Amino acid sequence: MTQKRKIVIKIGSALLANQDLLTPRFGFLQRLLEDAARLRSEGNDVIICSSGSVALGLRIVGETPETAGVSDKQAAAACGMPLLLNAYKQVGHEYGFEIAQVLLTLGDFEDHRRFLNTRNTVHRLLEAGVVPIVNENDSITTEEIRVGDNDRLAAKVAQMVGAEDLIILTGVDGLFDRNPDDPDAQFVPEVADVGPYMEATKGKSTLGTGGMETKLQAANMAQEAGCTTWIAQGEVDRPLTTVLSGERRATKILPHPNPLSGWDSWIANRLQMAGSLVVAEQIADQIATGDRSICRQDVVSADGDFTRGDVLHIYDSRGIERARGLSDFTSEELRVLINNPDTEAEQLLGYRTKGEIVRSANLVPLETRHLLWDVPAGFALGK
Ligand code: GLU
Repeated sequence: MTQKRKIVIKIGSALLANQDLLTPRFGFLQRLLEDAARLRSEGNDVIICSSGSVALGLRIVGETPETAGVSDKQAAAACGMPLLLNAYKQVGHEYGFEIAQVLLTLGDFEDHRRFLNTRNTVHRLLEAGVVPIVNENDSITTEEIRVGDNDRLAAKVAQMVGAEDLIILTGVDGLFDRNPDDPDAQFVPEVADVGPYMEATKGKSTLGTGGMETKLQAANMAQEAGCTTWIAQGEVDRPLTTVLSGERRATKILPHPNPLSGWDSWIANRLQMAGSLVVAEQIADQIATGDRSICRQDVVSADGDFTRGDVLHIYDSRGIERARGLSDFTSEELRVLINNPDTEAEQLLGYRTKGEIVRSANLVPLETRHLLWDVPAGFALGK
């Protein structure tokens, strides 16, 4: 490896916390950070997205993975986070580097200003030679405002910093074409399109919140940002460099040949849906093939409660998601515009406007390998 790369590493809870005692696994951390130091000595930047705060804090609040409810896990995360960071700090010092804590919530990715602030902070830490240890701020996040799993959190971080590689370390060798307990399961060394594997990967781990499904969702986001994802077993010596050098088996998920720009990727890879529009199929086709804004006449129906600048999911009349884009209007304004098609927009809203709902510069057609969204419950499409 000659060129300096940014490498985001995601570590699952089961690697970090002893399954029975729920204490930090220092042996694993030593192998991990020794190898991270090796990558750094070759000139690469390393960012670690680490799970483990909930698992490490559970005993302190008198719970187990089986008994803990949402508020128990939030409290456990507050107890476990200092233990986790302390473990990283001690072992990081052994290998000659400093670490820093970066706790994020969904809003730090979805709100563009906060996104840029967070990105600046992470870049500043890297400039200072510090290894950011990123986790979700579980203690203060509720269901609606959380990313929920660190696989996708790590992909969002990779996208945010423009990483070349995302290494997801876990308890299995990588992706299998069906449940790995099935004797006929085949290992999948390389993937260009994660879509066909999504059905076979439902289910999740007991200690963390992710599973193979969230790993593939993460890889799908990373590939659009031009980042290669690796899914690999973490319980080995040199867990990182052996993956990058191809010395052992791991699943490599290829980046797209034409990655999206940072702006388009920010729009397209949202984790929460603010609202949706339905447009006719032929309009959706035009969006996909060229520069086309969505005008008020194009909108068949709209749903959701959104404000100016929120990301809308654009469906065609068959209910297939075709694009994502930033709304130029609030949901109230949009309804007024589409319910009064014969009145000038300016007259309806009281200010000068062309009435373009989503401008082409803020509209990203979803390419065929983008994982699509199911319409969330409560959204009335096509009505
Ligand atoms: N943020 C959680 C933790 O620190 C883990 C989420 C996950 O396992 O993906 O425990």
